[in-house]
Amino acid sequence: MAASEIFRFDNTYARLPGRFFARLDPTAVAAPRLLALNTGLADELGLDANQLTHPDGVAMLAGNRLPTGASPLAMAYAGHQFGNWVPQLGDGRAILLGEVVDPRGRRRDIQLKGAGPTPFSRMGDGRAAIGPVLREFIVSEAMAALGVPTTRALAAVATGEEVFRERPLPGAVLTRVASSHIRVGTFQFFAARQDFDALGHLADHVIARHDPAAADSAAPYRALFDGVVARQATLLAKWMAVGFIHGVMNTDNMSVAGETIDYGPCAFMDHFHPETVFSSIDQGGRYAYINQPGIAQWNLACLAQALVPLLDGDQDRAVATAKEGLDRFPALFESAYLENMAAKLGITDSRQDDLALIGDWLRLLTDHQADFTTAFRRLGQVSVTADDSEPLRALFGDGDDLRAWLARWRSRLAGTEDTTRQAAMDAVNPCYIPRNHLVETALDAAEAGDLAPFEALLEVLRQPYTEQPGRGRYATPPAEEEVVRQTFCGT
Ligand code: AMP
Ligand code: MG
Repeated sequence: MAASEIFRFDNTYARLPGRFFARLDPTAVAAPRLLALNTGLADELGLDANQLTHPDGVAMLAGNRLPTGASPLAMAYAGHQFGNWVPQLGDGRAILLGEVVDPRGRRRDIQLKGAGPTPFSRMGDGRAAIGPVLREFIVSEAMAALGVPTTRALAAVATGEEVFRERPLPGAVLTRVASSHIRVGTFQFFAARQDFDALGHLADHVIARHDPAAADSAAPYRALFDGVVARQATLLAKWMAVGFIHGVMNTDNMSVAGETIDYGPCAFMDHFHPETVFSSIDQGGRYAYINQPGIAQWNLACLAQALVPLLDGDQDRAVATAKEGLDRFPALFESAYLENMAAKLGITDSRQDDLALIGDWLRLLTDHQADFTTAFRRLGQVSVTADDSEPLRALFGDGDDLRAWLARWRSRLAGTEDTTRQAAMDAVNPCYIPRNHLVETALDAAEAGDLAPFEALLEVLRQPYTEQPGRGRYATPPAEEEVVRQTFCGT
């Protein structure tokens, strides 16, 4: 098989009406060089990883050579950015090559991010720097290993060109893989233009891809909306459970497939505080950790509004249907949150009143500035019967508050067997997350030409729930001087 035939494309999005996108090829780069290839994902997609490492393969991952069957295009979308309506955004630096159906029958987009300017680039150069590209690589792959729905990173290629940000930086292209790149903002784009024909095409396309059962429902578009709402509820609960802060939850950065998408200034919390914000551009804390579920609902309200014209011929009935669908979100989120957080405490038969135990535990973490990830992991090691909470106590000082909380926790778990419970807790409380200070160190080295720290970190993060001997430093919270307080979009 020729290298150019490596992807067996079947491009359904490219068959949608022309106003859904701008057709264009990636812009070639000076000197492509493979930085990272995700062989596990290549296998999962049924791709020959070997071929991707050959110069022809690397040329395709850089956008210098079009694989056979590609229908390259930049997708059109709109969005609310920090609450402000922007009628036209679109892929300003990403080119969708096409879709592949993996051996298990799952359809996935193959997109090159940083592949050159498009008609949607506005003032941007269409490029990406190596730091943000490898950052998305690490964090999205860590999310996948943690079991959080996410877009994936197939490859990163250095361009041999400089991109100019605050200073010149080495450029790179990321190959992003997603169940689709359709966003809440894609629906908003057509709704705002009152292009209801396109809106219907888009909704049917999303039903076929993400909610095939909705097609047989009495109200397919309502079922489609319900599907998006349910996926976001599940996703947000998982973010909260791993301490992930997306940072730019604009409606153009919310996938209707329910995957985490657009890794910009995102970050994992070290010490717990509900109001934590990392992004330098999030001045008002709109996208703070604790605000995320509410913002997801806000974004879903935008989707609901965009779908109104499809929901019913009668405007009042359509609005009522949209509202009904939207109103399902809080309960869906809360039950997913309860289940996730209770499991993190070792509770497998969660009940409503466990929320108090969870809330008080989080308050303890806040009061003691305890590390979120470490605290849960160490709680797993505490016995329900014996008073052996020493490693945990080190995070909280010797106060009575922890003792009192542990008494309640022990009584809730009375009768459970320690070994089984610890194993269950270890399976949901990661040992390793992409801690900001580790990520920054790895990216600084990569920018200077040394990929070893990036590779080592990625390898650890592939098995986040398994304690790996000799890799303690990857589990350790940052020392005071290592703490990263702010992250940047760094586009
Ligand atoms: P983001 O906040 O990363 O989701 O980006 C918002 C919008 O800006 C999207 O439409 C991006 O495609 C676009 N964008 C971001 N960086 C660049 C760039 N360097 N060149 C062109 N467009 C960009
Ligand atoms: Mg975006």
